[in-house]
Amino acid sequence: MDNNRFWKMDRREAVAQELLRNLDYKFESHCSVKSEDEQSLAEHKESCIFRPVGCSNEGCKVKFCAVYEEQHDSICPYKVLPCEQNCPGMIMRREMDRHCVTVCPMRLMNCPFYHVGCHTAIPQCTLECHCKENLRTHLICTLPIVHRNEEASEEEWKLRAEALVKAQSENELSEALDLRSLSIIVKKLQAMKREQQIEETRESTNV
Ligand SMILES: [Zn+2]
Ligand SMILES: [Zn+2]
Ligand SMILES: [Zn+2]
Ligand SMILES: [Zn+2]
Repeated sequence: MDNNRFWKMDRREAVAQELLRNLDYKFESHCSVKSEDEQSLAEHKESCIFRPVGCSNEGCKVKFCAVYEEQHDSICPYKVLPCEQNCPGMIMRREMDRHCVTVCPMRLMNCPFYHVGCHTAIPQCTLECHCKENLRTHLICTLPIVHRNEEASEEEWKLRAEALVKAQSENELSEALDLRSLSIIVKKLQAMKREQQIEETRESTNV
């Protein structure tokens, strides 16, 4: 035996072969075929279902009988698979869990307006779309926070949200992807509106 704490690969294989020959009565892992001559033995070795083969997945060093190739493939940690959350990524089985919670664009996140009332979890990559489609909902959640000191009914906040949507010059409101940025734009739009009103009263009194 080697001085090494572990046996060399060829030594391990030889011992394994010997053990199998003696213990595997049902021939589940070794071959029962007996060949008369060297040539037919050599031919059989090429096609024997128990011939040793290596895993074809890059990075995997596991060897097994050819007959168990599929079985191994179905659990091989190095097998590359389509993302379980259906992003376009192809991910090794051993990295799938981590991928799905860290970098996968389809991983779920709470809406950034969750704590103020939009109780939805969305795939991270759909955030922009969600903010566009739910702009009014997000505004109705944001307005009472911007106007902390004001009391208003749900209906009044709705009307004010609608007025803001109309007042924006482009789509700057839907481009705000969190409470802070939306509040800033809301305040800006409201300030502009106030200035406009002052301007209008000045003009009308000047006439
Ligand atoms: Zn065989
Ligand atoms: Zn493998
Ligand atoms: Zn993914
Ligand atoms: Zn939302």
